[in-house]
Amino acid sequence: MELPRKILIGDGVISSLSDFVQDIGCVGSKIAFVTGRTVKKRAGAECESSFKAFQVENTWHIVEDSSVSSVLKLKRSLSKEIPDFLIAIGGGRAVDIAKMTAFHLNKPFISVPTSASHDGIASPFVSIRGSTKPFSIKAKTPLGVLADTSLLAEAPVRLMASGCGDLVAKITATKDWELARDENNEYFGSYAANLACMSAKIILNESKELRINKRYGIRIVVEALISAGVAACIAGSSRPCSGAEHLFSHAVEYLVGQNYGLHGERVGLGTIMMAKLGAHNGNVGISRRANKSEADKSKRRTGSELLDSCTNLET
Ligand SMILES: [Zn+2]
Repeated sequence: MELPRKILIGDGVISSLSDFVQDIGCVGSKIAFVTGRTVKKRAGAECESSFKAFQVENTWHIVEDSSVSSVLKLKRSLSKEIPDFLIAIGGGRAVDIAKMTAFHLNKPFISVPTSASHDGIASPFVSIRGSTKPFSIKAKTPLGVLADTSLLAEAPVRLMASGCGDLVAKITATKDWELARDENNEYFGSYAANLACMSAKIILNESKELRINKRYGIRIVVEALISAGVAACIAGSSRPCSGAEHLFSHAVEYLVGQNYGLHGERVGLGTIMMAKLGAHNGNVGISRRANKSEADKSKRRTGSELLDSCTNLET
């Protein structure tokens, strides 16, 4: 079980990035920052000034998308001078690419999310376009997670809503995990499943407050996303966080491209559909066994029936 060594959440904590890095035992003179263009403009100077007092060499790498070719490109540019560790500052793309590259280079990586839009912030899993597997693959657990709530609050509300979509997915994902246990004798970790489900329940319970008070909402959502990521670390698989609703999202990406909605938006829609399709009872706490005949029927549903159901939902 590999868990983040330290998690720091708070207003303005980005200015103490260098202390955070030292606290978790990341030492070295070469740091590779992996980020997006906009985020570099927003937070680049502050990150660099945090390391001013140290004798470190910073290199910045801009990520355009979360594809295999971006991972290879980053690996190529880092191969001239391998960094001692990587710091991902940004949303899903930067975190996924840094995570995967750190895994290939066997170097530690630190996650500094600038949007509360997905649960990859603290988990070892990535979703990389162009890989042979159309689902999440295991890479590297971040050694530390630093979440600056003032920086996160600057991100568009749509990104936080996407994070909520990725969180409600834990309801159907954990039901799928139960199904895998019952039907395929798969390992099921009730602690990890409950932790992931709790992240979803907190968001559902606090949904009104999240809309009214953005600063409060950001803290709740980012804590829940980190918790869900830790649940995946404990489980050693993406089971507590990702089920059929994520497969729906990957299928949409495959068919119409990655830019068709945000990850959490697609997953949130997938969650409603999977709950509605009857493989899961939408009410948490109602035994799947009570719904077994419906689940069996659902498993036999064909692709065209699924498409019909989607069309009906749309109209
Ligand atoms: Zn997700």
